[in-house]
Amino acid sequence: MRSVTMNLEVLDCHCDTCEEQFEHYKLSDFVYGELLLSSEDGKQLVYLNTFEDSVFDEVCDIVKDICRKDDEDKIRQAVNTALGYAYDLVEGQRVFKDLKRKCPKCGSTNLRCYYRKDWKTMTLRCAEHYEWDKLSVDEKKLLLAGVIGDGK
Ligand SMILES: [Zn+2]
Repeated sequence: MRSVTMNLEVLDCHCDTCEEQFEHYKLSDFVYGELLLSSEDGKQLVYLNTFEDSVFDEVCDIVKDICRKDDEDKIRQAVNTALGYAYDLVEGQRVFKDLKRKCPKCGSTNLRCYYRKDWKTMTLRCAEHYEWDKLSVDEKKLLLAGVIGDGK
């Protein structure tokens, strides 16, 4: 398993539903082409460098092909969904790019988050795609078409 050590911005978050306090992390806004993918429960973060990892572009191309007539926003959502199926599960969960932050305790998205103006050095797993690599081009297209529907 590959991993990368990096500095992440720290946000202090407060859940308005259950009063839980927790930290959330994000990449600097100045980083281009690098992403953090997050599990649906928000507890797992994996690192993805879209310049070094060709699967990201491959997924974007397939999605654009499937969603040819859709607008940018729909395509972005479809790409996000598709990523969860192209990259391997992390601790049994799919990882996505654009997820709303969630409370790790109750799952609420009713949060208040503030930048701490501080960084934390963390070691993150790199997103991997062993399962995806086993598929043929046609199987990949079929899989993603099934996941995102016909884009409608
Ligand atoms: Zn909560």
